[in-house]
Amino acid sequence: MTDIAPGAVLVINAGSSSLKYQLVDPRTEDVYADGLAERIGEDTPRIKHEAGGRERVLETALPDHRAAIAAVTELLHEDGIDLASAELAAVGHRVVHGGRSFHAPTVIDDEVLAEIARIAPLAPLHNPPNLVGIEAVSALLPDVPQVAIFDTAFFHDLPEESATYAIDAEVAREYAIRRYGFHGTSHQYVSRRAAEFLGRPVSEVNQIVLHLGNGASASAVRGGRPIDTSMGMTPLEGLVMGTRTGDIDPGIAFQLARVAAAGSEGSGPNSQGMTIDQIDRLYNKQSGLKGLCGDNDFRSVLERVDAGDEAAALAYKVYLHRLRHYIGAYMIELGRVDAIVFTAGVGENAAPVRADALAHLEMYGIEIDPERNAVRSGEPRRISTDSSTVAVLVVPTNEELAIARQSAAVAASL
Ligand code: ADP
Repeated sequence: MTDIAPGAVLVINAGSSSLKYQLVDPRTEDVYADGLAERIGEDTPRIKHEAGGRERVLETALPDHRAAIAAVTELLHEDGIDLASAELAAVGHRVVHGGRSFHAPTVIDDEVLAEIARIAPLAPLHNPPNLVGIEAVSALLPDVPQVAIFDTAFFHDLPEESATYAIDAEVAREYAIRRYGFHGTSHQYVSRRAAEFLGRPVSEVNQIVLHLGNGASASAVRGGRPIDTSMGMTPLEGLVMGTRTGDIDPGIAFQLARVAAAGSEGSGPNSQGMTIDQIDRLYNKQSGLKGLCGDNDFRSVLERVDAGDEAAALAYKVYLHRLRHYIGAYMIELGRVDAIVFTAGVGENAAPVRADALAHLEMYGIEIDPERNAVRSGEPRRISTDSSTVAVLVVPTNEELAIARQSAAVAASL
């Protein structure tokens, strides 16, 4: 039997065919269980589950998210964890898009559910599975407050010059086209942790946060409030990512749709140009590092670069070029920069990326210490020299903990 202290939070992050979960105490940061159900609704579903230091993989039918939640509940039960009697403070759901409607953690009721459904067209790949996750968990735990944490919320009040796209203003209004920003939970958590690490109030710190994972985004945060971010209307904009393009000429889509691929004149699937769905897939799943060199695992990319692989070397150069472009832009936007902060899988672990991203910037007061940069640790740390006027930090992100804390806080105010 596992003792769950009253007040723990179940964090749910439902993707189109996946469901990540974590049962965590937001006060002690104790993680009782976590895991990932993958390939839901597909041929070979499985759940990777960890509790009490024991890791298991369960291969079982998962026709939908409801079945996945039921299977996770059963796994927890086998570990002696009964969700229904655990006195959870809340269930916290990551919801990708909050549109203009949501700017803070929100307790979910029928009205909120309807509003998330109404704005789902803004994120057709993300919000619908989030809704399914919410409904599945609410059915299982009807008496526990369900809280939505929006990935866009931190960026809700971006200055209008940064949030506005220069297209027909009427069309923008009709289609709710603007820059929303994503990874907000991480940018908010990391920027606060960075200020804490520096021993200064977040309201006094200007920082550039670089969230470099499979998805990647940068933000410019002035005194705790973001003034710019690299993701836009959708998570496609900005940095080169594992499988996403990041910034590209919008005209490329017209070209792909109108023009037949070279060599396919006459017949074949590409003789008419691509459909919108094909372009969507190309931009989101077959581009970025994967598109350039066939690999989106950054470890393999770095190994291949070291081994002299040309495609990987080009992919790495393109990735860094874009990253430095944003760092430069945000330095100018912020005017004074106190800290540059790396986080997420690549940012926390890939020392060469950090070194190359900030190489030759001594004249701007940015100087990395190679020995500090080489240290591996799960703790926040400074990797710049003592004489660097800009502090360069690595601050591990923890979106689950941030979601759990915010969910518990709003549930306590009920
Ligand atoms: P996401 O949450 O967006 O899926 P993560 O933040 O977990 O992504 O980051 C995943 C990325 O981090 C992968 O590209 C992975 O290769 C990279 N990564 C993890 N560990 C290392 C490492 N030691 N060196 C380089 N890259 C790493």
